[in-house]
Amino acid sequence: MTKWVYSFGDGLNEGRAEMRNLLGGKGANLAEMAANGLPVPPGFTITTEVCSAFYENGRKYPAELEAQVNEALRRVEQSMGLRFGDATAPLLVSVRSGARVSMPGMMDTVLNLGLNDETVEGLARSSGDARFAWDSYRRFIQMYGSVVMGVPHHHFEDVLEQFKRASRVEDDTAITAEQWRAIVADYRHLISTHAGTEFPTSPQDQLWGAIGAVFGSWMNPRANTYRKLHEIPASWGTAVNVQSMVFGNMGDDCATGVCFTRDPSTGENIFYGEYLINAQGEDVVAGIRTPQPMACARAEAGQHPMETTLPQAYAELLRVRSVLETHYKDMQDIEFTVQRNVLYILQTRSGKRTAAAALKIAIDMAREGLITQEDAIRRVPASSLDQLLHPTLDPKAERVQLTRGLPASPGAAAGAVVFSAEECEARAAKGEDVILVRIETSPEDVHGMHAARGVLTTRGGMTSHAAVVARGMGRVCVAGAGSIHVDYAAGTMTIGAHTIAQGEWITLDGGTGAVYLGRVPTIAPALSDDFNTLMGWADSVRRLGVRANAETPDDAATARRFGAEGIGLARTEHMFFGPDRIGLVRQMIIADDELVRQKAIAGLLPFQRDDFASLFRIMAGLPVTVRLLDPPLHEFLPHEEAEMAEVAQALGKSVEEVRARCAALAETNPMLGHRGCRLGLTSPEIYAMQVRALIQAAVIVEKELGKPIRPEIMIPLVATQAELATTRRAAEDEIARVLKEEGTNLNYYIGTMIELPRAAIQADKIAEYADFFSFGTNDLTQTTFGLSRDDAGSFLPYYVDNGLLPRDPFVSIDRDGVGALVRLGVERGRQTCPDLKLGICGEHGGDPDSIAFFEEVGLDYVSCSPFRVPVARLAAAQAALATRNRVGNPA
Ligand code: ADP
Ligand code: MG
Ligand code: MG
Repeated sequence: MTKWVYSFGDGLNEGRAEMRNLLGGKGANLAEMAANGLPVPPGFTITTEVCSAFYENGRKYPAELEAQVNEALRRVEQSMGLRFGDATAPLLVSVRSGARVSMPGMMDTVLNLGLNDETVEGLARSSGDARFAWDSYRRFIQMYGSVVMGVPHHHFEDVLEQFKRASRVEDDTAITAEQWRAIVADYRHLISTHAGTEFPTSPQDQLWGAIGAVFGSWMNPRANTYRKLHEIPASWGTAVNVQSMVFGNMGDDCATGVCFTRDPSTGENIFYGEYLINAQGEDVVAGIRTPQPMACARAEAGQHPMETTLPQAYAELLRVRSVLETHYKDMQDIEFTVQRNVLYILQTRSGKRTAAAALKIAIDMAREGLITQEDAIRRVPASSLDQLLHPTLDPKAERVQLTRGLPASPGAAAGAVVFSAEECEARAAKGEDVILVRIETSPEDVHGMHAARGVLTTRGGMTSHAAVVARGMGRVCVAGAGSIHVDYAAGTMTIGAHTIAQGEWITLDGGTGAVYLGRVPTIAPALSDDFNTLMGWADSVRRLGVRANAETPDDAATARRFGAEGIGLARTEHMFFGPDRIGLVRQMIIADDELVRQKAIAGLLPFQRDDFASLFRIMAGLPVTVRLLDPPLHEFLPHEEAEMAEVAQALGKSVEEVRARCAALAETNPMLGHRGCRLGLTSPEIYAMQVRALIQAAVIVEKELGKPIRPEIMIPLVATQAELATTRRAAEDEIARVLKEEGTNLNYYIGTMIELPRAAIQADKIAEYADFFSFGTNDLTQTTFGLSRDDAGSFLPYYVDNGLLPRDPFVSIDRDGVGALVRLGVERGRQTCPDLKLGICGEHGGDPDSIAFFEEVGLDYVSCSPFRVPVARLAAAQAALATRNRVGNPA
């Protein structure tokens, strides 16, 4: 017989942390904590397999389920000394969903289940507190009514608000038992009119109703969207946890709270969290009352830290904190309740954290001996480093502060204010920087938060939905800025005398919580010691080299600062657009008189020589790969009337003639047109000039620095051996001429991009003429798929959304197609030339998943944009660890 139900607590723990696939994260950790002697109220977990079976069998439960649930419930009754549905001393339970990974969009928890008109009286008598009993009952009806029976939450709020106004009560805790009784009657009326059925009074019906709602929510649209976004298979299913209630709403010696074993914003080893006296469940997160801090050290004047209000439970919580960290070897996010000074732990999981915190925690824990250096390397998500390299507000910049909220997720962001997730997404899709402003956020806003630069809420604390989600996504967030009044209908926000309409700009400082008017300038951040330590550890294990794609001195300097080991791609054409050069470039293209043309080309030479020399200087002996002119010539042509006139004058032609020449150069399919080595073959003077400039620059800088310079000349868009052979010969002839003129010698390399399928297939032939290959995976993706990157926006998202492609192949390499060509190119290239140097210089060079692939196929280096260099160094280290030992990391 299949075991569908696993008990936990009070000495019977059938689950373990490793069983999260079967029990969900919440259930597995409840069992693990209970087994380790922590105070967990007893309960049981209905497995994820029940969820799968439920959907496979037309929404029917397995036959043995009911009996197993009843048996587990009996055990909980015994250990609590209470009975479910008993009119004198009833057992109440919570019903909690829990998938393998925590997932917004799943059913919300239902608390206090088991109450009805009789059991509520029993609870009042057995607790000696009628107010508490009726408070629990109304909470239950409200949660069950909205979560299970689908009556919108705000209807209940309206009833309550109306009642409070009529009877002039302000705080929920001041409402009496009798008053709650009246509200309960209104709630039930609301449910029967709205849902069309009565609120179920039988505890058994309530229990199965809630269980059914959890399983039902697995397939609701919100959960489906979330799964799609995070690539979670629908087959995983969710578990259901049924757990005996403990009460934080029984008076002033009771509380509920959420805490982190370390600061999730900074990573500091400081106990961190929020709690509320005389409250239940999500009150802390929901922002109904202002939560209070845990520790005295973290409290401001007028606050009431738990350390002083509930010292005994606080001391116990400190003990739990250290037990859990030592046990899980990671920062934990803990949910707890205090009932009459006794602490209960209701959940633990690895806490979400900012990139800065992830870094600090990993380094600290490795130093504390809790984890190894290799663990620390694996722990920090490579792509999150990006966030640490991004700007903060320029301290010298002028600014007008509007208000201050909580510093919920660090960084600085400026953008146009929008008030809905939809608007946010729409504007961001057009390339606009946007700040999403909400009273508070919910899972429906997640896609908008993703599209936003930053998020601002007027309600909620450091553990509110907005704060937690923003930190996870690396978005800047200021939460709970209570002095802002948001008017959704008018599309405005008002702070004192300022009214800001949708589309106007504000700036957020997520590190301080400040909100500024307009756009405040930002500066690049300083790299912390922790950052450098982690990079050092990563460098000591990685095999792949990391270079940067850079052509400007600025980019090259940034790349070196971030640890690039050379330049893997300098695009010479980017140097052609400078205001002092573009005129000459245009003359070179348009002139029909050979002498005029040669003069223009000769005029470009000193510019190129200086450009190359400055790259060589910055790279000081590290390899620098320079790609010869690649894009179609017409990209440089004049468009405006004034530009045409300028060229016409320089060439002594009429504007009409220039216009006609431009029209003649236009191509239908420029990306597949007259570009790359095809240009070098038909206009050899251009490549000859570039090669000459490059070699002269290398000679100059070699003398200057007194150490060897390593120029690598890269020939783009090669499809055939003959193309490379001819272009190479021409380059070598030019190099020989220059070196003879200079009376010196120099080591240089000539290689090619592999960016056409034919080149990958013919790699063995092409390698006869190449010292190195650099896979140009942007063009290789375009040409393998036969799709143009610039035009893919209209259908590629559809492909990804509908599962026609697992991911955007321009973001993460398509292993099966494009990747197979890379693999083939590597094998065939090395067949001919075993010490052929192999790199990749597409956008994929900075994508961690793609880097893992490049490690597998054995490339020598990746080259990526300067800001991605640290990401690539860490990803390369993680990839090396993964290939070296294929055992996964349990966290
Ligand atoms: P989520 O998955 O959204 O975190 P939980 O199942 O953890 O939902 O429930 C939310 C909150 O409800 C918990 O943090 C806790 O405060 C409260 N809660 C859940 N179960 C119980 C219980 N058995 N006794 C008291 N409070 C509970
Ligand atoms: Mg929880
Ligand atoms: Mg290319």
